[in-house]
Amino acid sequence: MKSSKNFYEDLSISVEKTANECKLYKNLCNQVNYDFDLILKESNLGEIPYVPWSLFKLSNNKFKELLRGNSFEELEYWMESSATCGDPSIVGRLNNDIKVLKANYNEVFNTFSNKDKVNNLILFAPDIRFINKIKHKFYGKNAYLLYKSIVDIWKGKQENFLLQFFLGKTIWKIITTFKLRAVIGVNGRLLKSELNRVEKDKIPTIMANSPLWMHKVLKDYYQKEKSTFDLSEQLYIITGGGGWDGTKGRVKLGYSVEKPEFIEQMCDMFNITTDKFCDNFAATESPMTCGGHWSKYYNDFILHVNNKQGRIVIRDIKSLEPIKNAREPGILELITPYGVDSYAGVAVLLDDIVQVENWERCPECGREGAIFRVLGRITPSIGKGCSSLFSLDAFKL
Ligand SMILES: [Zn+2]
Repeated sequence: MKSSKNFYEDLSISVEKTANECKLYKNLCNQVNYDFDLILKESNLGEIPYVPWSLFKLSNNKFKELLRGNSFEELEYWMESSATCGDPSIVGRLNNDIKVLKANYNEVFNTFSNKDKVNNLILFAPDIRFINKIKHKFYGKNAYLLYKSIVDIWKGKQENFLLQFFLGKTIWKIITTFKLRAVIGVNGRLLKSELNRVEKDKIPTIMANSPLWMHKVLKDYYQKEKSTFDLSEQLYIITGGGGWDGTKGRVKLGYSVEKPEFIEQMCDMFNITTDKFCDNFAATESPMTCGGHWSKYYNDFILHVNNKQGRIVIRDIKSLEPIKNAREPGILELITPYGVDSYAGVAVLLDDIVQVENWERCPECGREGAIFRVLGRITPSIGKGCSSLFSLDAFKL
């Protein structure tokens, strides 16, 4: 769908309302003398005042000021980016915004993978009981990982959550480090039995979440078992949450994997083709989700902007001026009037360095909208020694 007139009207209204309901955003608008009567169109999206990602960081303590109107009073809980220590982003969303967030994820998983047609899931993620235990408190309200808000999009399907709490290891950690920390890792036995079942009964299955866990655990699996699977007819893989460089948020797993290596390994391990992969780019600070498929030409995932959800702007790393050309690296800004009623998320500048390959459409799948690739981050991914929380050598078959 090409730039609908409504989108730009909705965007103008959203920018103005955000400024009226959020003092901090109003100040950002005033700083650049933003003209609220500006008729927004594709060519001037870069003029919308943006909120830099750093303002959402816990350490800056501005996240409460980013809420619009009286969202704080109605807020059930905060959403936290996936850093269990270090400096996470904190975002407050009310129900209507959460609905949009979920719809966006659903849309990606259905158009770039087969979510609605597949009923069996192997998730490299912990179940909700564990997610509920990872919480903080800010201004008297609980904060949970963003994952908590969207995990129920898988509801009604057979879910196999592989990330589990290891009591034995936790006790050992407490004894050896005197720190009370939970150790979670992958349940190898469950993975093995589930893969065997899926192969034998030809059960259509989606394997999803962190590519790091998948890569490491399946590499160990292969070394131990020396066997592969033929899931060519029934397996789909969904990766997401970034983390390709070994850092998800700031939780460093002490391990990294290159995307082409991951793809090759999974294809060999399961006898699947590259069209079975779906990647997903999203940030805690914005409700937009960008779905991706593997490109042999780029030897990388190409991510797609859905024009119904929003638009992107790419900014020069030094001057922060919008880059109009394709194939020039810059910082990614996500712009959307939808799903940001509770907070100033209408235009958010992230710390991801990306490169737009085509502003109009994807030459490979024909979808309309900009396509881009993620090249890196402006902030060095610091782990802050969090690796002790996650055990990657859980594979004890
Ligand atoms: Zn495409």
